Amino acid sequence: MTQWKPTVCMRCAVGCGQLQRGVDEGFGVDEVQGNHQHPGTNGLACKRGIRETKSPDGEWLTEPLIRRGDTLRPATWDTALGTVAAEFLKATAEDPDNLAILGSGQQTNEAGYTLGKLARGGFGTRNYDANTTLCMASAVTAYYRAFGSDAPPCTYDDIPDAETHIVWGANPDAAHPVLYRWIRNSADQDGCRLVVVDPVESETAADADQHVAIEPGTDLVLAQAVLARLVETDRVDREFVDSYTDGFEALTASLPDVATAAATAGVTVETVEALAAAFDDRTLLYWGMGVNQSTHGTGAAGMLINLCLATGNMGPGSGPFSLTGQANSMGTRVCSSKGTWPGHRDFGDPANRERVAEAWDVPVDRLPDDTGPGPVGIVDEINRGHIDACWTVATNPAAGMPNATNVERALDDVFLVVQDAFRSETVEHADVVLPAATWGETEGTVMNMERRVARVTSVSDVPDGVRQDIDIIANIGNRVTSTLFEEPRLDPETVFDELRALTAGTPADCSGISYDRLAAERAVRWPAPDAESEGGYRYHDDGSWSFPTATGSAQFSTASYEGLPEPTDSTYPLLLTTGRRPGAYNTGVRNRNETAETPRARIHPETAGRYVELLDRGRTVVASRRSRITVDLVPDDSIPPDAIWMDVHHPAVNALTLPAIDPESNEPNYKQCAVRLESPETSSPVTRSGVVTPGPVGND
Ligand code: SF4
Repeated sequence: MTQWKPTVCMRCAVGCGQLQRGVDEGFGVDEVQGNHQHPGTNGLACKRGIRETKSPDGEWLTEPLIRRGDTLRPATWDTALGTVAAEFLKATAEDPDNLAILGSGQQTNEAGYTLGKLARGGFGTRNYDANTTLCMASAVTAYYRAFGSDAPPCTYDDIPDAETHIVWGANPDAAHPVLYRWIRNSADQDGCRLVVVDPVESETAADADQHVAIEPGTDLVLAQAVLARLVETDRVDREFVDSYTDGFEALTASLPDVATAAATAGVTVETVEALAAAFDDRTLLYWGMGVNQSTHGTGAAGMLINLCLATGNMGPGSGPFSLTGQANSMGTRVCSSKGTWPGHRDFGDPANRERVAEAWDVPVDRLPDDTGPGPVGIVDEINRGHIDACWTVATNPAAGMPNATNVERALDDVFLVVQDAFRSETVEHADVVLPAATWGETEGTVMNMERRVARVTSVSDVPDGVRQDIDIIANIGNRVTSTLFEEPRLDPETVFDELRALTAGTPADCSGISYDRLAAERAVRWPAPDAESEGGYRYHDDGSWSFPTATGSAQFSTASYEGLPEPTDSTYPLLLTTGRRPGAYNTGVRNRNETAETPRARIHPETAGRYVELLDRGRTVVASRRSRITVDLVPDDSIPPDAIWMDVHHPAVNALTLPAIDPESNEPNYKQCAVRLESPETSSPVTRSGVVTPGPVGND
């Protein structure tokens, strides 16, 4: 047996500390268990984190591939990388924006930083983004607006101290099992409670002391109703608001009438009052993709932050706490130069641009001057003929982006380079495939949702044909610009040292977090400006508050509800919503056995009863204005009437979803679109991914 080595789970952003050991012979992880010495999680782990790693079912990529006609054929690394570099140079010869690069919240910080450095500092393209925009961008935008920083104030230490836990648009029982155990344990104490706001009676909602079942997509307006109720019943924490915030008068002037807003959200005024009363106690307010993945995502997330600010629910044991999905979504935001320069440095600040250009030894005018249009906008740019080449790293846009059939067509229109560990839907569209090491095979760091940095370590070698992410990126970089990187193999510790030096003095200061410190302490929260300090509750020191905004105060925000971007109508009378299934992870490239099956569509039994003539042995077809897929229809009274719930992970489902985005965050509106059921006899048989009729299905 190989040695047990400390590492951190890469299956979700709880970031559980684990011990791994590799197989005796060959490649891969043999066993995983919780690490009792890891701060924060103390040996806890869930089945997904343990089991999925032990035996991934996905098809591993083991050698570079180059497209010859309709097939991908093996190639040498030199040929593959030379081809990629030549095509990228050709694409960027006239305009750097002709190259798009899509990264991931599943990369290490070292890989994300290296990719951002090459994208922004090497090529200078504005079309660089990551799949974190698909899940967290609305929360991030709301945090910046409210606090001047993308740092959730809370940490896991606050969970036991809260009296009321409000989970809004999230299902941590399925998505974050270890975190949910802490929430449940705290809510079970005398005088404590768990309140869940969700249109669906999810696993978490079924377990709650109170479940508020709202109309899908009305999170913003319900939060406004609760705020309006708090104002009209004089339950605002005036001392906190007057001392530490700006903009409260503008917010109150913008709020709707309680009864009208309650009706829009599909709840009673009594329910609004009950939610308002929940904030009387020390309250932690968690939210997730049900809030973020909306055309109103930034406004809704901002309104949840407003609720905490207005009730003085800031400070240990209380506050707003976004639940991050991917293991290193936080790290992507801190280090990869996506929406900010490393360390959350403001993208538009000339001093930051000078500092970054100096650190990277590149001309400052090579750095792009805006953060780009986001992943959906990049697909639009491809469709307009403005992008010639695209490079995806540890992400699967052909399955994971909305209106995925359109995304697949766009990927076919560019020179596509796919860097990944597993054979994904996106690989099928690639011109060059670069096989990369994955969890258990790579060295680096990640940051969990409470800002804690931890090491991921390798317990297994990789096949000769597979390389580390940072080496692949640096090799391409060195073929297009000679000054950016040392020669591969890059040392991950050297990369991290460069990154942490760039964060010094910023709100996300990691300069005091070294590999040696992580080896000794296992995990350290930022900001950590020196080798002894560690970040705790943010913006609050010695009884006083200070926010990195222009005025030093937290900022209330306003927003208005404009309705769903694609409401139901007589042609598409059902609303499709999506969510996480326990045990599954994103587009499922590591657990193909589960996602290759025909997708299940959960529907309220009374609604299902109206469509029995469209069922063939339990199967039917769900059609949106974008595509049709064959599903197994499962009656389930936890789903609201006239709605269908499907697995956000299944590669077929995003053929149906809507590419409308939040205009402030660029995050797509995955959670609601209009669909109808059709007879399965009118469609072709189900394919591996479940998609039966790609492409538009009509203008009606
Ligand atoms: S809760 Fe998340 S980080 Fe922890 S073991 Fe489970 S999947 Fe891994």
